[in-house]
Amino acid sequence: MSAERNYKISVIPGDGIGKEVMPEGVRVLERAAGLYGFTLDQTWHDFANCDYYARHGQMMPDDWKAQIGDPHAIFFGAVGWPDTVPDHISLWQSILQFRREYDQYINLRPVRLMPGVPCPLAGREPGDIDFWVVRENTEGEYSSVGGKMFPGTPREIVMQETVMTRHGTERVLRYAFDLARTRERRHVTSATKSNGIAISMPWWDERVEEMAAHYPDVTHDKYHIDILCAQFVMNPDRFDVVVASNLFGDILSDLGPACTGTIGVAPSANINPERTTPSLFEPVHGSAPDIAGKGIANPIGQIWSAAMMLEHLGEPDAAAAIMRAVETVLAEPGLRTRDLKGSADTEQCGRAVAEAL
Ligand code: ATP
Ligand code: MG
Repeated sequence: MSAERNYKISVIPGDGIGKEVMPEGVRVLERAAGLYGFTLDQTWHDFANCDYYARHGQMMPDDWKAQIGDPHAIFFGAVGWPDTVPDHISLWQSILQFRREYDQYINLRPVRLMPGVPCPLAGREPGDIDFWVVRENTEGEYSSVGGKMFPGTPREIVMQETVMTRHGTERVLRYAFDLARTRERRHVTSATKSNGIAISMPWWDERVEEMAAHYPDVTHDKYHIDILCAQFVMNPDRFDVVVASNLFGDILSDLGPACTGTIGVAPSANINPERTTPSLFEPVHGSAPDIAGKGIANPIGQIWSAAMMLEHLGEPDAAAAIMRAVETVLAEPGLRTRDLKGSADTEQCGRAVAEAL
């Protein structure tokens, strides 16, 4: 076997159901490796979780980057346990650190209605909903630039800035247009709010027009974020690639998967397209404290994230095979978890996907 098909993977399960769905993601990865002739060199990390915080007063060791080293990818579960650590601390000290330190400036989420998954939108069939949300992942509205004046008084003022750079905006738009080129419909929709947010969003619209001029073979349009949310629900068949700033993309990339049935099946990729740093693959859902410890979490979001990771690593055949196995399992109520009105537990569902492979 050639050395380049041995992949170094950092595995970080995190908290809550992250620890339950991760073994199923890894089970399917290992099965795919055996079948498709590549190897996985896994390093499991017991940080970026709230138990680590309880022991050390922070989510990750100071030398976390050195400990992670230089893997080909990071496979992440879910983080957060609000009973012990407030979410804004557990998230900023873990997943948001990864995104920024590794410059994973693309957050990519497929929105696809899978056969067998009950769709909350009436009358929609698989094939009607199949698009990508491309979210800017490192700047924009999620800044810590701002402050408070006259705190605690009736005159109190709080301000928080949006920070968009030309470099940061152009690179996410380029990624979206490039992605559209790989698709049949070749269409990009931009999320904006240039009627209300009168400085940054008109500027965003200009960058979109400029980028579009380089892609005469790709059509494009734009919607204000409010009506775009409504369109996701009313006309999801209209979309192909949707590109958005950090905040708008965050909203759309939860709304999209929710329109396709459950967030339990949805995957995401935090990508550094230049591959100068590792990219990170994780399910869309969080640590779900309400169902943690019961063994009933849906592992499909973690497994689909594994497929996205293999695609990124250059194993598209194995990735496609995992997706076929996922479709087989989702079509069978006895193999689905309870969030999809099935009867399987987390492990039974994960094993079923590995067997279907
Ligand atoms: P975060 O902010 O980290 O996304 P959250 O608390 O907002 O976390 P989730 O942890 O994703 O949201 O959970 C939202 C709801 O979805 C919960 O009620 C949970 O039970 C359900 N849920 C999330 N993931 C799954 C899953 N894999 N299987 C079944 N139900 C899930
Ligand atoms: Mg949430």
